[in-house]
Parts: sequence; structure tokens; C-alpha cells
Amino acid sequence: ESNQSVFSGFQHLSLEERRERLGEGLGLDAELLDGLTGVQGLRMESALTMVENAVGLFSLPLGLGLHLKVNGRDYTVPMVVEEPSVIAAASFAAKLVGAAGGFVAEADPSLMIGQIQLARFGPPSFAMARILEARTELLALANSLHPQLERRGGGARDVEVRLLPPPEGPGMEPLLVVHVLVDTQEAMGANLVNTMMEGLAPRIEQLTGGKVYLRILSNLSDRRLARARCSIPERALADFGLSGGEIAEGVVQASRFALADPYRAATHNKGIMNGIDALALATGQDWRAIEAGAHAFAARGGRYGPLSVWRREGGHLLGEIQLPLALGTVGGSMLAHPGVQASFKMLGQPSARELACIFASLGLAQNLAAIRALGSVGIQRGHMALHARTVASSVGAPPEWVEAIAALLVQEGEVKVDRARQVLDRMRG
Ligand code: NDP
Repeated sequence: ESNQSVFSGFQHLSLEERRERLGEGLGLDAELLDGLTGVQGLRMESALTMVENAVGLFSLPLGLGLHLKVNGRDYTVPMVVEEPSVIAAASFAAKLVGAAGGFVAEADPSLMIGQIQLARFGPPSFAMARILEARTELLALANSLHPQLERRGGGARDVEVRLLPPPEGPGMEPLLVVHVLVDTQEAMGANLVNTMMEGLAPRIEQLTGGKVYLRILSNLSDRRLARARCSIPERALADFGLSGGEIAEGVVQASRFALADPYRAATHNKGIMNGIDALALATGQDWRAIEAGAHAFAARGGRYGPLSVWRREGGHLLGEIQLPLALGTVGGSMLAHPGVQASFKMLGQPSARELACIFASLGLAQNLAAIRALGSVGIQRGHMALHARTVASSVGAPPEWVEAIAALLVQEGEVKVDRARQVLDRMRG
């Protein structure tokens, strides 16, 4: 299945032509297409029931990431983002990787971690033993709180007990934290898990004589990781008058920098999240949960590091990414948003695990695009061309003038609001 022809030259088409291609190529009917526009998007009536004190709706651009091939399948990726160049960069890198066979990705089952914090539990070994002895009973109790989930093949899977040193220093009570692993199937699972944890708490208190405080999922969902990798022949990377080997070396140097330095790793990972957040917004995910999980995972082992690494081997550039991805294809407020429905249709209605494979691959593509430029000619060249359009629009240039003004700003090397205003005034004058 390929969408190459449907989307060839996509960036040069008008909005109407793009929508036509989308309709034909991916079977989106007029209603779904309208779901992508501000007019027919999220309804005010839905917004009123989604959040408190609602007074309006707030829009962002939705664009298509193209050429993403994952496990042999081509995906058209809906991306919601305010930053110019993110979508072009992802599509560019995806095309490079696609020509080399695409991404290979896998995702763990949807195992979420629920946490129950216990205090005043007496001798730790006694409390820990009581909880672990009751493992089967606790799992059954958790599942009884969500029988549907078990019927679907999910449910509570395991109980773990952790003893953590007191943060105030020795002499205080250590922390006893119960972890319950729950397979939430197609759901992100926060509500599911929280219900279970609250339901288990009284029994944990009974078993141990302790007092439960917090009962909630952990966003460090490191039992629910997704991994993607890619391999590109170096000669395919040649660009900007540089050899493929030189470009590959720049990518590897960027990877070394991120591994050695949290200051760089933060920016490296921000580039990955450019893609992941954009897809998260388009598919109605809890993007704060994804962000929290990604950065906490990046700091596992006590030191913040990159979510992806790159190396050269046998004439190829190899990239790998791994991160937690707690995604849902059901639940939350996804059904309320017609744009989210259209996004899922565009992606071919993937399962939560397939979706995680797409997310991880897109993150790796986004990362490659950024460090390929950073490790060679820098990103400003490409960025400024796109940024110039935003600058031209921001001073009130009519749409039919934006390209011309942007081109002039880039040519002059002065992509600035004041200059754009001067140019516009002169054109008007
Ligand atoms: P929901 O509470 O909407 O639960 C999903 C529901 O979907 C399930 O309870 C289940 O209900 C139903 N369902 C239908 N088909 C399936 C299937 N195949 N697999 C699994 N469930 C299915 O959402 P979540 O539990 O996923 O919670 C996500 C929400 O929680 C998000 O809105 C998030 O923002 C929020 N949240 C996040 C927190 C955090 O990240 N720290 C904390 C608190 C909330 P049934 O069995 O009845 O059919």
C-alpha cells in the first residue's frame, strides 16, 4: 500500500486540491475533511462539557507529514503544530529513510503503572510480605473494579513493592510504594488505573495497618516503551555540497554531544518531541503525559540523556529511539473532536501499539532532520525561509504577497518584522 502518488508535489497544491487528494487517496469523506477545518472542528457544545469555565475554541494549523514508512506500511501523518518547518523537516527525513526501506518499530503491550503510597506501616519487611502474599487477591480485586477490561484481554497483571529511602535523610520512615501493573489495552489508561488504585487502597491499609496517601498512575510508563530504528546508506545523505560521509559524521557528532551533555540532550529531545507532540495533538492524546514520560525516561539512571542515538556502521548511518508512549485510541475526549476522528482515519485506524510505532518513527525522523542540518550547514538556512513567511503574514501582508515578501527578506538576509513592514508599505504605496 503506497500513498506516494497521492501526495507527490503536495506542497505545491492549493488547499482545495490537497483536500481532494486526501479525500481520494485516503477515503476521507466531506464530513471528515470538514472536521479538520476550524469551521467544522470541535464544537462549542462539546467544549462546554470538556473543560470548566469554557468560553471559546482555540485553533492551530494541521498539516500532513508525508513519506513515513513504518514496518513496510506508508503513513500519512496528521501534525498539529504552530512552528514552521517541523512538518517539512519530518517529511524530508521520512523520505530519506523511506528510500532505504523505512523504519522498523515495535511497541510493548499497554502496561501502565499505578502507584499506592503507604505510610506508618511499621517494620517494612512485615508490610512488604503482607502485600506480596496477597498478590493474587489484590489483582482479582483490581480486576473486579473494571471487569470489562479483563474481558477485552487486559487487566491488572502484577504487584510490586518498593521501599524508598526517606528524602529527608536517615532516621525518618522510608517510603513504601506499591506498584500495580495494568494492561489498559487500547486506552491511555489514566482513569482506568486511578480507579483501580483507589479501589485497592483500603485493602492495602487493612493488610498492613498502614495509612495510604497517594493513589494514582505514574507517567513514567517505562513498561510501555516503543522503539524505532532506521538504517540509511551514507551515500544517500550527500547534500549541501557535502559527501554522505560528512553528513553522517555530523549526525554522529550531534549524538555524541547529546550523550555527553544534558544541556544538549534537552534540545536534542525537544527536536524529537516536535514531531511527537504534533501527532499527539492531532490524535487527541494527553500530550503532557507523553512529555512527562519522555523526559523522566530520558533521566533514568540519574542523568538526563538523549532519547535517540546515532552511529555509523558499514557505510550506513544507524539511528535508534526508545521512549515511553502511553497512547489511547479510545477514551479521554477523543470522540468529541471531529479532527481527531479524521486523523485516525488518515492513519488507517491503528491500534494503540501500532500508533506507538508511528509516534516513535516520526520522532526519530524529526530528530534526523534536525541534527542532519545542525551537524553540517546549520538549521537557520532552511528555517529562515519558512520563518520569513510567518514574519510576512504577521505584519498583515495579504496571502498573495506573502511568498514574494518572504523571498525578499531571505534574499536580503534580514528576516525581521520591521523590514517586512517597510517592504509591505512600499508594495502598498
Ligand atoms: P477513559 O477514562 O476514557 O477510559 C477509557 C475507557 O474506554 C475504558 O474505561 C473502557 O471503558 C473504554 N474502552 C473501550 N474499548 C476499549 C479497549 N479496547 N481498551 C481499553 N478501554 C476501552 O480514559 P483513560 O483511562 O485512558 O484515561 C485517559 C484520560 O485520563 C485522559 O483524558 C487523561 O488526560 C486523563 N488523566 C491523566 C492523568 C495523568 O496522566 N497523570 C491523571 C488523570 C487523568 P468500558 O470498559 O466501560 O467500556
